[in-house]
Amino acid sequence: MNRNHLSVSDHLNVEDVDCTRLAEKYKTPLYVTSKKALKNNFNELKEALDNTYSNNRIHYACKANTNISILKTLRKEGSYIDAVSVGEVYLALKSGYEPSEILFTGTSVSNKELEYLVEKDVKINIDSISQLERLSKIGSPEISIRLNPGVGAGHHDHCITGGKESKFGIWEDKIVKAYEKAQRLDFDIKGIHMHIGSGIRDVNKFISPMERMMDIAGKVSNEIGIEFEFIDIGGGLGIPYKPNETSLNLKGYSEEITSIFKSKIEEHGLGNPTLALEPGRFLVGDTTILLTKVNDKKSNPFHKFIGVDAGFNTLLRPAMYGSHHGVINATNPKNAGRYIDGAKETEINKKVDIAGPLCESGDLLAEDRPIKAKIGDYLAILDVGAYGYVMSSRYNSRPLPAEVMVEGNKSKLIRKRETLEDLLNNQVD
Ligand SMILES: *Cc1c(COP(=O)(O)O)cnc(C)c1O
Repeated sequence: MNRNHLSVSDHLNVEDVDCTRLAEKYKTPLYVTSKKALKNNFNELKEALDNTYSNNRIHYACKANTNISILKTLRKEGSYIDAVSVGEVYLALKSGYEPSEILFTGTSVSNKELEYLVEKDVKINIDSISQLERLSKIGSPEISIRLNPGVGAGHHDHCITGGKESKFGIWEDKIVKAYEKAQRLDFDIKGIHMHIGSGIRDVNKFISPMERMMDIAGKVSNEIGIEFEFIDIGGGLGIPYKPNETSLNLKGYSEEITSIFKSKIEEHGLGNPTLALEPGRFLVGDTTILLTKVNDKKSNPFHKFIGVDAGFNTLLRPAMYGSHHGVINATNPKNAGRYIDGAKETEINKKVDIAGPLCESGDLLAEDRPIKAKIGDYLAILDVGAYGYVMSSRYNSRPLPAEVMVEGNKSKLIRKRETLEDLLNNQVD
C-alpha cells in the first residue's frame, strides 16, 4: 500500500493540503493528484529495475491519465511514453516528449493515423500484417511488432490482452513471417513487444509470458538475423484497491523478470537489448483521489443510500468493471487512518451504497460500505488516478469535472471544470 501522500488530521489531507479546503475552493466533483506520489511511484520502479538491469526504459502508458501536467511531471523524472492513439501522441508531443521518446501501439489503425505518425516520426509498434503492408506505402519509420504470446492475465476479462481470445498483436505462428515481411519492406526494425493484461499483482503471472516472449524473440532473431534494440514486455503491474489486497512485490517483480530476461538473451545470443516496460496504472493509480459532495441520503427496507455529486460519468470503473475503490469521509475521517494504511474496513455503521446522480440504477460508486456521512460532507474515492478522468463522460449532460495537482502545501488547477455552455460546444443547429 502506497498512500503516504494521504493523512488524517481533522480532515483528510493530500500531502499538506486539507481536502475540504480544496473542495470548497475548486468545487466538486474534483480529481486531486499528489505530485509527490507520482514521482515516488516512478522512481521506486526505476530504482528496482536499475538495481537488476540498468539498460531499461519506462514508457508511461498514458491512456491511464493524459493530463499534461502528469505527462510533464513524469518526463522530468525520465519517463518515455506508450501511446495508443493519435490523440495521445499529440498530447505527449505538446507535453515536451521528443518523437523518439514515444512508442505508438494501436489496434485497428487507419491509414490516416499512420500518416500522422510517420509525419511526426514516432516509433510504431505493429499490431497486424495488414497494418505493416499499409504502412509500407506511407513511409518506413522505426518499428517493433506486437506479439500475442498465447497467454495473458488480468483483473477482469476485458483487461486480458494476450491469449486466444485477444484481438491484440500477432500470434506466434505468424510472427517470423511478419518480421520477414518487415525486412523485405525495408522497415527499420527496432524491437519486439507484448502486453498481456492489466491489474496483475502476482509476480508469477508474468513468468510464463515472459519466457514465451523471450524464446520467440530468440527464434525471430536467429531465423532471420535481427538484432533487437529493445524488447518491450508491456505493462499490467497491478495495485491494491481493496484493504486486504497486497501490493505487487516490486523487488520480486524486478528480480524475476530481469533474471529471465538476462538468461534468455544469453541463451539465444540476443546481444544487449534495452528492456522496455509500459506501466500505466502502477504509476498513476494511487496518486489521485476523487472528492465528491454528499447531496442526499435515503433508504428503503433493503438499502441505505448516500447520494453524491459524482457518478459513472465521473468515474466509470465501478460500473464498467465492478471495480472496488476505497471511500473515506474527508470531512470527518474518524478511523480512516487505519483504512488508508490498508487495515480492514470496520463496521462503523450499517452498510451503505454510494450512489451517483445519474438516472441509471447501475450508477453506484461503491456498495455495502461502512461509511457514515452527513449531507454536505465530502467523500474521497481513493486510487482513481488510472482510468479515472480519462474515462469520464458528459452522460446526462453533466459537464466534465476539474483536476487539481497538489505539491506540499500548494494546489494548482490542472484542468478547469466544464461549464453548462461547454455542453453546446460543437453542436450545430
Ligand atoms: C493499457 C496498456 C498498457 C498499460 O496497462 P496498465 O495495466 O495500466 O499498466 C501498456 N501497454 C499497452 C500497449 C497498453 O494498451
